[in-house]
This record gives sequence, C-alpha cells and structure tokens, in this order.
Amino acid sequence: MIKPTENSAPLSTKLTISLAAMLVILALVVIATAAWYTLGSKGADGIVIAAEPASATGTAGNQQSFAAETKTSPEEKTSFVPLAFPAALPSPAQTVKVPTLMFHHTGEPPADADELRLGLTVSTADLEAQIAYLHQAGYQPVTEAQLFKALFAGEPLPPKPVMLTFDDGYVDNYQVVVPILEKYGFPATFYIVTDMVGTPEYMTWDQIVELDRKGMDIGSHTATHADLTTLGTSGLQAEVAGSAEALKAHLKHPVYWFCYPAGKYDADVIASLREAGYLLATSTDPGEQQSSDDPFVLMRYRVRSNTGLEGFKEIVR
Ligand SMILES: [Zn+2]
Repeated sequence: MIKPTENSAPLSTKLTISLAAMLVILALVVIATAAWYTLGSKGADGIVIAAEPASATGTAGNQQSFAAETKTSPEEKTSFVPLAFPAALPSPAQTVKVPTLMFHHTGEPPADADELRLGLTVSTADLEAQIAYLHQAGYQPVTEAQLFKALFAGEPLPPKPVMLTFDDGYVDNYQVVVPILEKYGFPATFYIVTDMVGTPEYMTWDQIVELDRKGMDIGSHTATHADLTTLGTSGLQAEVAGSAEALKAHLKHPVYWFCYPAGKYDADVIASLREAGYLLATSTDPGEQQSSDDPFVLMRYRVRSNTGLEGFKEIVR
C-alpha cells in the first residue's frame, strides 16, 4: 500500500499549527511590552522604578536607583526638568519625614565677627564631621525635586532622607561646603539673595551658575532679604517674582525653590509665591514632617556654631 499523502497532509498541518503558535507568541510579546511601558512609564524616573518591580511600592528596594541618582546628579546635571503641581492634590495629604538642616555661614569667621555672625557660623571641622556622619550612618541627602515628587507624585524617597540647605548665598559656602559635598556626592540647596550676588562675602553669578550645573539646587531668598510680611503688593512682587526673574536670567531655567528671610511668611506672601511659580518654600519652623498640604511651609532645623556633631546627630535622628 502506498500512502503518498499520509505524511504530507499532517506535515502541512503541523507547519500551519507551528506558524500560528509563533504568531500567537509574537502577539503576546508585543502586548506584554506595550503593557509594561503603559504601566511602568511616567517619564524617565518611572521607568527606573518599573525596572525594579519588587520594590515599586516599598522604600528599601528603591535605595539603589535613588542612591545612584543622588550620586551622579552633581556631576551630570545637564538639563532642567520642568515640574508642576498636579491637577488633583493628594488627599489625604502626603507626608514624609525629611529632617531639613538650615545652615548659614561656614568656615572661619573674621576677627571682627559679632555675636550673631559667630552663632551662625559652622566651622569647617564641624561641617566635615556632620556631613561625614550622614554618609557613615546611611543618611541620604535628597534634592528639592525629590522631595517635591515624593509629596506630589507619590515617588518614594531613599531610606533616611535628609535635606541640606544653606541660606543667603555666602561665598564661604562655595569655598567650604561644596568640596565637602562633592566628596560624598551629596546635593544641597543654596538660597540666594539676588541683589547681594557679587558683593563682598557673597557668591558671584558665575559661582552660582557653576553650582547649578553641578546639580546643586539654587533657590530664591528674595532680592534684598526683606521681611516679606511687612510689604505691600508691589514690594512683595519685587522680592518674590523679581528674584525669580533674576535667577532665571542667569541659570536659564525657572527656579522653583524659595526660602523666607528670617522665616517670616503669611497668607499674602504664600499667594505671591504661588503666583511667581514657586513649588516649595522652607521656613524656620522646627520640625521634620513635610506635608503636601504645606509645600510653602517646609520645616527646618537650624544648625549653629555650637551644634557640633552630637547636636547634629540628635537633629537628624
Ligand atoms: Zn537669610
């Protein structure tokens, strides 16, 4: 018996089935890939988080991606990322514990320094010890953008987050602080009094632009360091919007971060900040719970000349 078609028919059937199976697999791969991107991508950061599915909602697992971001940002910040408040604010409020340290002068005070100046000057040795302690104890300084995204986009912060801020834009910060921060790859915010830029004891615009390009945060500390609660509408505008414009003109990008001179603010001042496009403002109100309900009243702890290492440990704990 010859069965010429017995093998050929099943073979073509097999081929058809194989081809169909391959098409089904290909379709599944395409669907899975599309789903991964749809679910995982919220811009560049979303993809980083999505690549670590086990840790997308926790904090510990994200240590690596944020640590890498923190470490590389000072050298690699080349582009500005626009941010904005979301259409729907978090409800209930999102709160995060981020001890935020407030520094002023750093280094060695001049011989004729008065009591106030002496009290606000943290020595190079103390600053070295405090920043080294953060590193050794696993604290991770975060940027203002990281804090903003934690409050308003639900993005996780690294474990043991802290924020380092330096008020007034003193040149001793540029000389003393920046080399120490760079040693550890730590970011910090420098709040600039724009009318003081380039005057004795204050940073120049070139130095400020350099810090910005290195990945440090630059914020406004008004134009003249005025008590904002004493000003009328036009005075407020000159200090709040005026300083933002001066910073933008030099940095070539908007500035979202603000700091109140002497910690003085009220409802009118906050409204003026919103109008000028700021997203976060630091106060001198002591505390460490930052809330999406109060983006313009971030809490800070003051670091003084006599805080030392032990006092510093107590603050960040
Ligand atoms: Zn100040």
